[in-house]
Amino acid sequence: MRIAYLECTRCGEQLSADRPQNICPKDGGVLFVRYDLAILKGKLRLEDLSGRVASMWRYAEVLPDAKPVTLGEGFTPMLPSREYANVYIKDEGLNPTGSFKARGMSAAVTMARHYGLKKLAAPSAGNAGGALAAYAAAAGIEAHIFMPKDVPVANRMECDYYGAHVTLVDGLISDCARMVAERKDKEGWFDVSTLKEPFRVEGKKTMGYEVAEQMNWKLPHGIIYPTGGGVGMIGMWKAFDEMEELGWIGSGRPKMISVQAAGCAPIVKAWEAGKTSSGEWVSEMWTGAQTFAAGLRVPKAYGDYLILDIFRKSQGTAVTATDEEILAAMRHWASVEGVFAAPEGAASLVAYQKLRANGFFLAEDKVVLFNTGSAYKYLDMIEAQGKKARPEPLTARNIGGIIGPY
Ligand SMILES: [Zn+2]
Repeated sequence: MRIAYLECTRCGEQLSADRPQNICPKDGGVLFVRYDLAILKGKLRLEDLSGRVASMWRYAEVLPDAKPVTLGEGFTPMLPSREYANVYIKDEGLNPTGSFKARGMSAAVTMARHYGLKKLAAPSAGNAGGALAAYAAAAGIEAHIFMPKDVPVANRMECDYYGAHVTLVDGLISDCARMVAERKDKEGWFDVSTLKEPFRVEGKKTMGYEVAEQMNWKLPHGIIYPTGGGVGMIGMWKAFDEMEELGWIGSGRPKMISVQAAGCAPIVKAWEAGKTSSGEWVSEMWTGAQTFAAGLRVPKAYGDYLILDIFRKSQGTAVTATDEEILAAMRHWASVEGVFAAPEGAASLVAYQKLRANGFFLAEDKVVLFNTGSAYKYLDMIEAQGKKARPEPLTARNIGGIIGPY
């Protein structure tokens, strides 16, 4: 659909979508894409969706009106849990490039091509880089990706094979972001960093539409989402508001839950601390971020104020999972559900178990757990973490040709 304008989520400033924009020039606020949904109300009916393409582009009316750069992203399975009667696993591991990042990059690269941009740049904790590289390849656009040097091997290799220009950085995604910011003007790159361009949210919001459609337009009681940059959650929340405006759902909302790694939990810390004395609600840069769940190694989310606001409005919360708990949850999900989840995704199970144990969720509450990616992209990290958690037994001694434990 034609975009009405871009709106700053801090000050409400309206900007034109006729040319590429990054953030609000006044206060650096995240820009949201706004459409004139009122003209769709009553015209676009739920039943019109049946029989449409099984990708996120089935929701074309609430996405930008441009020819999609698509690899078949979205409309991923909503799997009923075998273990818990009212739990569903939304498996984003089945997206192109094996993670939910495909949705955001499909939308961002679609608009980049629409605007005629030739060179895109982004910092990435891993999977966003892979997704950008793939969609840029499909669109014939240059991609410049900055990743920590210890990202999973799959992320380095996919970017290489997709033909992206990769810079491995001795640091975290925050260091990568600084390098993109320093070089972009000189190099003529358009910055597609998380929340610093408006269309990645548009792609990711389709997860909200899918949750609604796949649950027969009755939103669940809760949604647990692994949170690094937080765009998945921000996007779904935007989708719920749009669907209410379209008359597709009522005013009820799921409790929105973030799960972060215990070794990098800036959002959890900020949520527990509450608003600052100045009335602001933001997170602080986490120092010494460490977790094998690479996507959760985000020491400060650019949209922290939006995420914290969503917890408040939805009566949600934020919880942590240790690497040991995540690894155990991965094995559990794989063996019980047949889902080999990314570490970030398995953290959702840890969060659910904790929130059931403390009574936040009851057995009858319908809860959707997001698996944000496929474990196949993390095999090296998982193996290393497994060895750390369960050290190899001492090698059997070999004495006089007799092999055995002594
Ligand atoms: Zn603003």
